[in-house]
Amino acid sequence: MTGSGASKTGTGRCAMCGAPADARHRPFCSARCKDLDLGRWLNGSYAVPVVELDERDVDQLADLVHGVFDAESDADPGEDT
Ligand SMILES: [Zn+2]
Repeated sequence: MTGSGASKTGTGRCAMCGAPADARHRPFCSARCKDLDLGRWLNGSYAVPVVELDERDVDQLADLVHGVFDAESDADPGEDT
């Protein structure tokens, strides 16, 4: 019964920074760390010379990733440069 004011830490620690993981973002402590982790393995995928990705493909993939996190993002790239 050591109430130190901390929330329930039954989810372990953040796989990114080691901070107590948040139940809503486990196994990470925040959406930011989750995003960082995603970018991490995405970069890793790019580093593997299995498939050549065009800049367009990368851009589309980035758009897709952002769409996952921000469901309200503009999925229609109608804006011209
Ligand atoms: Zn973290």
